[in-house]
Amino acid sequence: MDPLKIAIISRAPRCYSTKRIREACTKRGHKPKVLDPLKFGIYVESKHPSLTFRSRRLSEYDAVIPRIGSSVTFYGAAVVRQFEQMGVWSANPSQSIIISRDKLRSLQVLSRYDLGIAPSAFVRDRKDVLPAIERVGGAPVIVKLLEGTQGVGVILADSIKIAEAIIETLQSKSLNVLIQKFVSESRGKDIRAFVVGDRVVAAMRRKAVGTEFRSNVHRGGETESVTLTEEYERTAVRAAQILGLRVAGVDMLEGADGPVIMEVNSSPGLEGIENATNVDVAGAIVDYLVENVRFDDLDIRQRLGLARGFQVAEFTVGTDSNLAGKSIADSGLRERDVIVLSINRSGQVHAAPKGDDEIHAGDLLLCYGRKNTLRDYLPLKKPKRKKAKAKNNS
Ligand code: ADP
Ligand code: MG
Repeated sequence: MDPLKIAIISRAPRCYSTKRIREACTKRGHKPKVLDPLKFGIYVESKHPSLTFRSRRLSEYDAVIPRIGSSVTFYGAAVVRQFEQMGVWSANPSQSIIISRDKLRSLQVLSRYDLGIAPSAFVRDRKDVLPAIERVGGAPVIVKLLEGTQGVGVILADSIKIAEAIIETLQSKSLNVLIQKFVSESRGKDIRAFVVGDRVVAAMRRKAVGTEFRSNVHRGGETESVTLTEEYERTAVRAAQILGLRVAGVDMLEGADGPVIMEVNSSPGLEGIENATNVDVAGAIVDYLVENVRFDDLDIRQRLGLARGFQVAEFTVGTDSNLAGKSIADSGLRERDVIVLSINRSGQVHAAPKGDDEIHAGDLLLCYGRKNTLRDYLPLKKPKRKKAKAKNNS
């Protein structure tokens, strides 16, 4: 294979992670360059999106690996987005980087799925603060800044009074704070799973030292290599996939009922995890890049919707559906201009099923086809409301 030109977008050419990724590229015969995101110029012109670097026209790249620090998220993500417009593959999409930087936004997105997350509340009105604290489990409670990193901005408030005072203080400084259940059973430990593509390539447990409850390596946390159970592994990979990240550090607490996702990092550090596990994580990232660089990130809904009257849709096959128990060939879908792209049966995805594959009640079908046919299978979603709470709804 021809050597690939790979841009590592980083402000820190000498930091461990950047150096390791660059080495991994070189070792595989590719051509890496570390480029400071703030030295790019972004030029937005119809059909000619382009970039300059240090005021000169940027040469052509095959792929980018964003390593964007939280202090330059906005500009860094704009640079990655520009590469995307120019058709250059990125290890993490710009949109996913932006979502992952906001702890509220990422938890909101994850909350739709069947994954353990730390119950959290976000309120603005003073009258809502106390009910919010109580609803996530009362004191002690975690109060955290939406955009903190390395443990800074994560506070454990022992009492409701202290929590209220902290929240009021931060809000008065126009800072956004999340109120979150304190997962005490994890006792200052957490799991960092390093996800590359569809697998966890390395995982470690981090332990806070002394009276500290935050296990971040930057807070003195100690690390050890762990082998994840299938449940933890699946949770980490799913979380990354839902947020659209192909390279991610998924932080999970070990809750009483299994993994509790706290946050998903889009530029996870390599030093801690490589030292703790002896895994060549940088190599795994570059191997993944090489394998996937030809696959453009296309927005399937946008593309397929271009044919008038056609769309992609996902629906569950009801027990009374005329599809249940039939093979795809006998279902009549194809005759009515619908193609089944995949069948999800209790979490197991059967991709590109064939005519003799059967459709069961309870299957989640992903289809592409004529809207007039698909509409019959798409129920209107009415929010389920619990009776007891109905009287408080406004
Ligand atoms: P940061 O982005 O600063 O790393 P995190 O949300 O990951 O912020 O929190 C930092 C650390 O604080 C975590 O690694 C964990 O040890 C501890 N922590 C955070 N949230 C909770 C929680 N809800 N319950 C218990 N410990 C927590
Ligand atoms: Mg963290």
